[in-house]
Amino acid sequence: MIAVIGAGPAGLMAAEVLARAGGTVTVFDQMPSAGRKLLMAGRGGLNLTHSEPLPRFLSRYGAHQDWIAPVVSAFPPDAAVAWCNGLGQPTFAGSSGRVFPRVMKASPLLRAWLRRLEEFVVGLRMRHRWTGWDASGVLCFATPDGTERIAPDATILALGGASWPRLGSNAAWTAYLPGLVTPFQPANCGFAADWSAHLRDRFAGQPLKRVVLRFGADQVAGEAMITANGLEGSAIYSLSARLREAIQSQGSATIQIDLRPDIAPEVLAKRLSEPRRGQSLSNVLRKSAGLSLPAVGLVQEALHSGADAANLTALVKSLPVRLVASAPIARAISSAGGLRLDAVDRRLMIRDRPGVFAAGEMLDWEAPTGGYLLQACLATGVAAARGALDWLEGAQG
Ligand SMILES: Cc1cc2nc3c(=O)[nH]c(=O)nc-3n(C[C@H](O)[C@H](O)[C@H](O)COP(=O)(O)OP(=O)(O)OC[C@H]3O[C@@H](n4cnc5c(N)ncnc54)[C@H](O)[C@@H]3O)c2cc1C
Repeated sequence: MIAVIGAGPAGLMAAEVLARAGGTVTVFDQMPSAGRKLLMAGRGGLNLTHSEPLPRFLSRYGAHQDWIAPVVSAFPPDAAVAWCNGLGQPTFAGSSGRVFPRVMKASPLLRAWLRRLEEFVVGLRMRHRWTGWDASGVLCFATPDGTERIAPDATILALGGASWPRLGSNAAWTAYLPGLVTPFQPANCGFAADWSAHLRDRFAGQPLKRVVLRFGADQVAGEAMITANGLEGSAIYSLSARLREAIQSQGSATIQIDLRPDIAPEVLAKRLSEPRRGQSLSNVLRKSAGLSLPAVGLVQEALHSGADAANLTALVKSLPVRLVASAPIARAISSAGGLRLDAVDRRLMIRDRPGVFAAGEMLDWEAPTGGYLLQACLATGVAAARGALDWLEGAQG
C-alpha cells in the first residue's frame, strides 16, 4: 500500500497517478473533508494555470525556476488543462492569459476528481492527523478513536504550506522533519501601511482599478484593494516576495502607484493646470484627472503627510505608499519556505527518508498568483508519484 498524506491538489494528483499505475493507494488527511484550500481557491474563480509560453511560465518561479523547470515541463499547463477537461470541466483563458474552469469554481472539479479516485479504489481516510514516525519508521496518526500506526511500502507527503491554517495546512508537520525546513513566511499577501484613521474609515474595502504599481525595477499593472490595514490584491501580490524581503532588510518598502497609467504625464499636467474656478481639490482630481474616490483619498493622504501640492501630476503618476509589514501568514494566499529543495532528490524523495516523497506547497518554492501555484502543486504531485513508482520498482527489482 502507498500512503498519501494530505488531500489537497498535490496529494490527490499523486494518488491519481499512483492508482492509474495500478498501485493500492490510501489518502489520509486531518480534516473532515478533502481539498478545503482548493475549494477556497475556487471562490476567486480557480485560476488553474496560465496559457503563456512555457519558458515565460517557468520564469515566474524566480530563484526556484531551475529546480522546478523539469517538474513542470513533465506536467505542463497543457496537461493541467487536459486533466481538468477530462474531469468534465472545460476551461477558458481570460484576456490576461490566466486559465480557469468555465464554471469559475472548484467544487464540481473536486467532486468529479473524488469520484474518479473512488473508481480507482483509492481509500480516503479523513480525520487522520499524521504525527510523524515511531522509532521503527512506522507512520503514526491521531484519529478520533485514538492512534493508528501504518507501515506502507512508500509514502507521499503533500501537507501544504502555512497559509490559511484553518483549512488544514497548519505546518505542524515541520516538527517531524527537523533540520530540513526553511521557516515559512507569507507570500502573495497584503501589506500594512500607516493609513490615517480618515483613509481607513472612508476607503477600506474599496478597489484601485487599472493602476500600475512600481517597486524598484519591477512594475505590475492590475488592481489593488485598500484595506483597513494597508493594501492587498493581485497587483500587490505579484510584488510580495520583493516587498517582503525589502521590509525584512530595511524595515519598510515604498511603492509608487500610477493612478492613471493610461494618461501621459504631459496630458495630465495640462488638465490639472487649467483654472479651478472655485472647485475643491477633490473635484479637480476626480474631474480633470479622472480619479476614483479611493484614488483621490490616497492623493489627499499623501498631501496631508507632506507631499508637494505643487506637483499634483507627479503624485497621480507616482504616488508613494510606504509599506511597513506583510499581512499575517494566516491570511496569505500562499507561503514561502518549507521543506528545503536540497533535502529531496530529483524524484522528490526525502534524502534521509528512503521511500518518503514530498509534493506541493510544503516544498520550498514560491510563485506569484496567476495559476503558477496550482500548476506546481499538480506537477510536483505527478513527479512525486512517478518517483515513488520508480523507487518501488527498484526496491522490488
Ligand atoms: C484564498 C486562496 C485563493 C487561492 N487561489 C488560487 C488560485 O486561484 N490559483 C492557484 O494556483 N492557487 C491558488 N491558491 C493556492 C492553492 O490553493 C494552494 O497553493 C494549494 O491548495 C496547495 O496545494 P497542496 O496540495 O500543496 O496543499 P493544501 O491544498 O494546503 O493541502 C494540504 C492538505 O494536507 C493536510 N494536512 C496538513 N497537515 C496534516 C497532517 N499532519 N496530517 C494529515 N493531514 C495534514 C491538510 O489538511 C490539507 O488538506 C489559493 C489559496 C488561497 C488561500
